[in-house]
Amino acid sequence: MLDNPPKRSEHAQKTAARPSPSGFYRERVLDIQHYTDKLFSFRTTRTQSFRFQSGQFTMIGLETEPRPILRAYSMASAVYDDWLEFFSIKVPDGPLTSKLQHIVVGDEILVGAKPTGTLLASNLQPGSRLFLLATGTGFAPFASILRDPEIYERFDTVVAVEGCRQAAELAYATSVIEDVRSHEFLGELAAGKLLYYATVTREPYYHQGRIPDLIDSGKLCDDLAIAPFNLATDRVMLCGNPQMLADLRKLFAGRGFAEGSSGKPGDFVIEKAFAER
Ligand code: FAD
Repeated sequence: MLDNPPKRSEHAQKTAARPSPSGFYRERVLDIQHYTDKLFSFRTTRTQSFRFQSGQFTMIGLETEPRPILRAYSMASAVYDDWLEFFSIKVPDGPLTSKLQHIVVGDEILVGAKPTGTLLASNLQPGSRLFLLATGTGFAPFASILRDPEIYERFDTVVAVEGCRQAAELAYATSVIEDVRSHEFLGELAAGKLLYYATVTREPYYHQGRIPDLIDSGKLCDDLAIAPFNLATDRVMLCGNPQMLADLRKLFAGRGFAEGSSGKPGDFVIEKAFAER
């Protein structure tokens, strides 16, 4: 018996004995990392039968009364990991995250059994460079994609871009990139292929500015010392705030890139990181 067993919240104690609601797995929190007052990530157990593709999301939530509070979340862990990882916002008065940000090890999370989403490599035409363009928690699905060995077999170059307001908000994306680069097996596959570009909008930083502006001006490719965007070679995945998505959809459509979806592969695909309410 541990001297100091992990403290389980009142919420976990109330829900532990009940069967999972239909269509959901009940997973236990294994680890939590807080990055800023707005961002955290956590890992849970993974029921073996829960399968997903890199880039997908599912509904997750907490079992509250009278009904669970559920929200869409992208899986950030690799498809082969024994655990699930999520990268989350903390919205102070948000129905889910005002509570979720206080989870402790041992708490239980509902995880929807039916993952879905459009950020799939199979929704893209073949190409040689893949750009993963994210703001904030929009990086979550790309964490899963960057941890997938297949992506480095499919593309010669993978460019991961994360845009945030403050430099401290880059911590999760940067740690994922470091994990991939130092991973025994993935590191070798990604070597010379994986490029990372982090940009900040609200304080001085090595790279500054909004992603649409950095692409439109050519600065992003110049800074990375790579060839400009090219429809013949480049495929793009977008996940982030609604304004960034609207601006980039217009920009890429203007350059002849076609939007892809399931059953109709294109040159770029889009997922919202959150919905405006
Ligand atoms: P809500 O009532 O859901 O949101 C309140 C307000 O907070 C929103 O109107 C919006 O202005 C803002 N907001 C919500 N989510 C975010 C966010 N992620 N970043 C910045 N502002 C936000 N959220 C994650 O944290 N991680 C994910 O991996 C993730 N994946 C998603 C995938 C999809 C397809 C969609 C549609 C949403 C995703 N979200 C993700 C958003 C998530 O579903 C919730 O909105 C979020 O957890 C906040 O829940 P809430 O109940 O606390 O507040």
